[in-house]
Amino acid sequence: MYALGDWVSQEETFDVMDPQNNEVIAVVPKASKETVRSIIDGAEEAFKAISSWPVHERIRVIQQAADYVEQHHERFAYTIAREGSKTITEARGEASRAIQTLRISAEEARRVKGETINFDQREGSENRTGYYFRFPIGVVAAITPFNDPLNLVAHKVGPALAAGNAVVVKPATVTPLSALLLAEAFDAAGVPRGFLSVVTGSGRELGDELVSHPAVKMVSFTGGSSAGDRIAEKAGRKKLGMELGSNSPVIVLNDADLHDAVKSTVSGAFAAAGQNCIGVQRVFIQDELYEDFTDLFVERTKELQTGDKLSEWTDMGPLIQESEAERVEQWVNEAVEAGAVILQGGKRNGAFYEPTVLANVPHSCRVYYEEIFGPVVILEKTASLQEAVTAANDVDYGLHAGIFTSSIDHAFYAVHHLHVGGVMVNDSSDYRIDEMPFGGVKQSGLGREGVAHAIQEMTEPRVVCFKLTQPWSV
Ligand code: NAP
Repeated sequence: MYALGDWVSQEETFDVMDPQNNEVIAVVPKASKETVRSIIDGAEEAFKAISSWPVHERIRVIQQAADYVEQHHERFAYTIAREGSKTITEARGEASRAIQTLRISAEEARRVKGETINFDQREGSENRTGYYFRFPIGVVAAITPFNDPLNLVAHKVGPALAAGNAVVVKPATVTPLSALLLAEAFDAAGVPRGFLSVVTGSGRELGDELVSHPAVKMVSFTGGSSAGDRIAEKAGRKKLGMELGSNSPVIVLNDADLHDAVKSTVSGAFAAAGQNCIGVQRVFIQDELYEDFTDLFVERTKELQTGDKLSEWTDMGPLIQESEAERVEQWVNEAVEAGAVILQGGKRNGAFYEPTVLANVPHSCRVYYEEIFGPVVILEKTASLQEAVTAANDVDYGLHAGIFTSSIDHAFYAVHHLHVGGVMVNDSSDYRIDEMPFGGVKQSGLGREGVAHAIQEMTEPRVVCFKLTQPWSV
């Protein structure tokens, strides 16, 4: 693993396996708690030693790391596809997005700025002037999930370094290799020693050490709610960024473009085998369009090719582990027992679970109100926009929602009444660019990512006020 500028091993190791065939593809160090502690101490020392890391140097390092990923694009894509569950086509897309995330981070490093303050707006504060600027926060602990093993790491490392922070990454145990490759890119780019570390090992075993260390000033976490709750409990009085899960709704109204809505929702439901925080899980279709939408949706779902991740022709790979496919199978079976109907799919083969379309799902089923995080989508007939919005909101999550309509009034109604972090009009919930503010409300998270917004979260304002001896006027 990459610790304070050196590649180090540990006494203990763990295997990284390809979920498709359980082949061991790498053996990775398992960090001890002592190692985590000393890496954070070292990151703090490095941060203090370079009291101001010049912005032009931050830009150069991040740009060169992006160049490195670009030059080794296929190696990055292959690693993502091998250790995770994405197809090679999806993995190439993720590697390209990570390059963009880094390039945007380099650009945004120029724009870490404040503004002047008119202190003389307050009686008694005449003859004062000043400003605030944004100061790096210190050591950021970045904890990342398996489903975008490169780009979600880039979304933390890029902004953290752009802001001038030191960052210690703990990638998911099942997918640590993409993060280690990214460390290779930053090492080649000459990131200052100690400003980046990638520590590998179990989140449950190392998490408390990592998030409660006093030198860590912010924990930037992306993952599930239960780990998020534990981190919030252990971190204490620290800044927290939480990008959590959802069960995203999409509303399709009678005035929607049917073909466009089906194409987007099928892709949004089954991309990355549904292991996607903004993946489409609940589709509310207005009554007149329901039959046609359902027929076409099932037809398109049947066309998806499931199989070998590394084949150019595969649309959907396995889930990350067989146990995850078993969980998905169990939730679907529970729904069927409660009265749900399987319109397509519903079968498991090892870690593979068929793209599955359900109807008549009672709202009391986990597959409806929890995050399924698998290739399962629910279609539900709705009488009106208002009814659909009420149902969409009636869960604990609120990350993204989509609405398909040709009416600006309907779109605005949804924008104003859906309780989520983002509403995509005429796109599914799965639409995102890396520049936009990204994050959720309710149990879906705290704070926002999206490079410029992450930089805001990873810096703190410092106010400067000059009291002048001469009268001050502008
Ligand atoms: P996870 O099980 O919560 O794990 C995420 C990360 O947290 C892993 O690195 C994990 O380490 C670590 N971790 C686990 N327990 C911890 C603890 N007590 N203290 C500190 N770290 C701990 O999530 P996942 O299964 O990898 O990812 C799926 C989840 O991520 C879904 O809920 C999905 O919606 C969410 N997600 C959200 C976004 C977003 O931007 N909103 C994006 C992608 C994914 P180990 O791997 O060692 O357990």
